[in-house]
Amino acid sequence: MKKIAVLTSGGDAPGMNAAVRAVVRKAIYEGLEVAGVYNGYQGLIEGKIERLELGSVGDIIQRGGTMLRSARSAEFRTPEGQKKAMQQLKNNGIDGLVVIGGDGSFRGALELTKLGCPCVCVPATIDNDINGTEFTIGFDTALNTVIDAIDKIRDTATSHERTFIIEVMGRDAGDLALWAGLAGGAETILIPEEKIEIPTIIDRLVSGTDRGKKHSIIIVAEGVMTAAELAEIINKEAGIETRISVLGHIQRGGSPSARDRVIASQYGAKAVEVLKEGKSGVAIGMKNYDVIEYNLKDVFEQSDELDMKMYKLSKELSI
Ligand code: ATP
Repeated sequence: MKKIAVLTSGGDAPGMNAAVRAVVRKAIYEGLEVAGVYNGYQGLIEGKIERLELGSVGDIIQRGGTMLRSARSAEFRTPEGQKKAMQQLKNNGIDGLVVIGGDGSFRGALELTKLGCPCVCVPATIDNDINGTEFTIGFDTALNTVIDAIDKIRDTATSHERTFIIEVMGRDAGDLALWAGLAGGAETILIPEEKIEIPTIIDRLVSGTDRGKKHSIIIVAEGVMTAAELAEIINKEAGIETRISVLGHIQRGGSPSARDRVIASQYGAKAVEVLKEGKSGVAIGMKNYDVIEYNLKDVFEQSDELDMKMYKLSKELSI
């Protein structure tokens, strides 16, 4: 292993830059040459590859987004696209690739591994939905963004004695909604992993009002339904008027939290170590606060599991 490359792919996540920096600096520290691939797999197909030096990744650890830019590439999903990507890796003398992204990006890396390019994957997505790791890069920052929004909305909810429904991202995973709901003191949290009982939601709202509660915060994960849909159901079924807030893409941006910078640095450096050891088809992650490596194929064996103990706790604390 003499020369490696790094790319970011799929949805951007705060901390991707810190991971790119770690890969580049650790590779150079280990005596490897390192290149950056711009615009994810599409850029790989098009040969958008440049050598990176220590200084190329200066002043990025605190920045959101990704300096390598990201893309979703339909062409790379085809065998022809993957062949072109392999040819570019060969033309540029690249012996191994670090892929920073979500599970779709990991699937792409698995294909390249099968074609003979050693790949190591670093999990980065605000959804925290990758099987095998407890934390993905970007989740903590997005969580803090959501908490900040909940706190602000709560001020209005209290002043005007209103019920607010806040819709958060997460695709099919409820991690962001659950953690934000627990940390933000939400009265009700709706996640895709749990069956939604509309009568229970209404009962909680009504009994809260009967107890003298003047406001309420409901967090709904985008994988369940939209905030507007839920507002309509509550209004129709119980005649309760609510206000909605859809947080949207602000959840993906911003300067990464200290925690995301730290895990990005750990994951990025570990990815280089693993590649240097000659391993391939490996994912990096965290288990019990230890940085671990595991088989990339395990990511697709089963879907990521939510911590249901935490869900139970959120219910107990929001009676
Ligand atoms: P996020 O979770 O933030 O959306 P992601 O990595 O899951 O990130 P995707 O759009 O699913 O985002 O995947 C990124 C890219 O990876 C795709 O545009 C495609 O080029 C490649 N990819 C995804 N799935 C496959 C697959 N099955 N085979 C080959 N390449 C794939």
